[in-house]
Amino acid sequence: MHQDRLTRVRAAMVGAGIDVCLLSVGPDLPWLIGYEAMPLERLTMLVVPVDGEPTLVVPKLEVPRVVHRSEVFALRGWGESEDPVAIVSELVGSARHAAIGNRTWSQFLVGLQTQLPAVAFSNASEVIGPLRSVKDPHELAVLRAAGAAVDRIAAELQSGEIALIGRTEAEVSAELSRRILAEGHHRVNFAIVAAGENAASPHHEPGNRVIGPNEVVLCDFGGTMHSEGGAGYCSDITRCVVTGDPSQEMLEVYGVLLDAQRAAVAAGSVGTTCEAVDAAARGPITDAGYGEWFMHRTGHGIGVEEHEDPYIVVGNSHQLEVGNVYSVEPGIYLPGRFGFRLEDIVATAATGPDPLNSADHALVSVDA
Ligand code: ZN
Ligand code: ZN
Repeated sequence: MHQDRLTRVRAAMVGAGIDVCLLSVGPDLPWLIGYEAMPLERLTMLVVPVDGEPTLVVPKLEVPRVVHRSEVFALRGWGESEDPVAIVSELVGSARHAAIGNRTWSQFLVGLQTQLPAVAFSNASEVIGPLRSVKDPHELAVLRAAGAAVDRIAAELQSGEIALIGRTEAEVSAELSRRILAEGHHRVNFAIVAAGENAASPHHEPGNRVIGPNEVVLCDFGGTMHSEGGAGYCSDITRCVVTGDPSQEMLEVYGVLLDAQRAAVAAGSVGTTCEAVDAAARGPITDAGYGEWFMHRTGHGIGVEEHEDPYIVVGNSHQLEVGNVYSVEPGIYLPGRFGFRLEDIVATAATGPDPLNSADHALVSVDA
């Protein structure tokens, strides 16, 4: 698996005229070799020459964390008195065009630019992003398992098993987080809980607001699930419930959103552009007069990273291909009152869109 990915990265490097890839913190490294760099001040960096063996430069004290796949890369532990930037510079050698991971600390990029004044740097995402956006069967299986895990939590929310009324958003968020881990994720990425008027803020930070009766409660949560290959893959789902009886207006607005989300999921066939999927969600919402209250893109790709290519947004003419996996999450947010978002992860299959989430899409009333 890792050898195959390395081969594909090298082919993409040749196509882009890149002599060496430099991967540090962020998702590219675990995707490529199954090792995730610690996000600390000591440098971890995989040096991938276009031909020749890759070398993982890693702090000596972190060497025991590395599953050394010696058929894929060499290991160079560096001691506390060594300069890791100099070690990387030496490995870069005579290369002239380097692609560096987008999440690399600027401290190290600036150090490399100083030590390698003749090297031109570009973003590794230009080389690796398109490869990461096409999932292989192993990746799809992990994404499907992560999706099924958050589906079960959504069902617990909708059944009333997760108490809402009388608790704060933060308490419910903590409970969702516990369940994300209990369901097999190794990391919680977010657990948005937004009640009442807070549901009109798409990225609301759960706080001390106490959830009352007959309110919308928007829950958007997900985590990262480890795979055998070493990299983790993300889940991401949004469901809204009402603590009691929804108003007529809530039912109307939610009906518009449900139609929009269904249309956008159904639109995602091979060859359809990302912006056409966005338009499929936006159309029914705009037609119903709520267009100005749907102020974000329809979705994002998902994989090792929570948000990655392909983005489902106006202006993205990328045509969906088999193996793309992305969210479809339109929303309608009425400031100061309430809001709704409905989100599923969808894989592009040869036979059409293949949703990885199936939790009830209705606006469920809970007595909890
Ligand atoms: Zn989400
Ligand atoms: Zn999302």
